[in-house]
Amino acid sequence: MGLPWRPLALCGVAHGKRASSSVPTGVRSFVPASSLIDACALERLQAFLSRATRLFVITGAGISTESGIPDYRSEGVGLYARTDRRPMQYAEFIRSARSRQRYWARNYLGWPQFSSHQPNPAHLALQRWEQQGKVHWLVTQNVDALHSMAGNQRLTELHGCSHRVLCLGCGAVSLREELQKRFKALNPEWGIQTDFVAPDGDVFIEDEQALHFRVPSCTDCGGILKPEVTFFGDTVNRGTVQFVHERLAESDAVLVAGSSLQVYSGYRFILAAVEQKIPVAILNIGPTRADHLAEFRVSARCGEVLSVLQLH
Ligand SMILES: [Zn+2]
Repeated sequence: MGLPWRPLALCGVAHGKRASSSVPTGVRSFVPASSLIDACALERLQAFLSRATRLFVITGAGISTESGIPDYRSEGVGLYARTDRRPMQYAEFIRSARSRQRYWARNYLGWPQFSSHQPNPAHLALQRWEQQGKVHWLVTQNVDALHSMAGNQRLTELHGCSHRVLCLGCGAVSLREELQKRFKALNPEWGIQTDFVAPDGDVFIEDEQALHFRVPSCTDCGGILKPEVTFFGDTVNRGTVQFVHERLAESDAVLVAGSSLQVYSGYRFILAAVEQKIPVAILNIGPTRADHLAEFRVSARCGEVLSVLQLH
């Protein structure tokens, strides 16, 4: 059951391989540099996975960077490091029609590229794990729909999904793709060249460029339309959190994949796991908020590791 790259050197001796070869050139700029993969940590992860019979997985932006979606927090390549722009705050979206206009104008421009991203080997591996009965539940902090596209069904999208739209008036949920057609019909002449799309599908344009963008409202009640995602400053639905806690309590191991767990909405499940004495392993490039709570951490790209681990 040795891993493909298992070196002949003993654990504890400097060894490993550069983890840069399997990431397509086009998306490399969004994936943080990882140091040598620690083969011992990988062996531990393999053993951890083999022991687990009801695995609870939490994923974050780090699992989607290999699909070409930048994250917010990665050192050097995350959005916070590259730009001074920050995502829309919930209160600002609710309060201001001008803010919504700006938000949707940018989201409209980013949508064709954002919606075209595809699951990568890490997503596909987790789908296989579910199919083979290893994954009890998968919780993602991502809003990119890549886990559902990969076919995972035992899935909670903790922060919602940008492929769905919610009416704040009547609660109706519709497809973001349908809204794109309405945007296009209302703004036939409107278009701006842009080439940078953020993790939530946002793009960067000057505020005045959005002034003439027309935003439709709910076809049923005329209410305000919002992506069905948890904005910064918003809270995750209590029922959803409770549901996830129940799935966690049924699990016997927790794997964090591609998240620094900086946001409390995900971190709280690690706290709960530790309280229930459920072992935690972390696969992430760079430190996380929960490193001190985990049995161990592997610093490597999700795709390279998840796709080669064996299920027993
Ligand atoms: Zn409505």
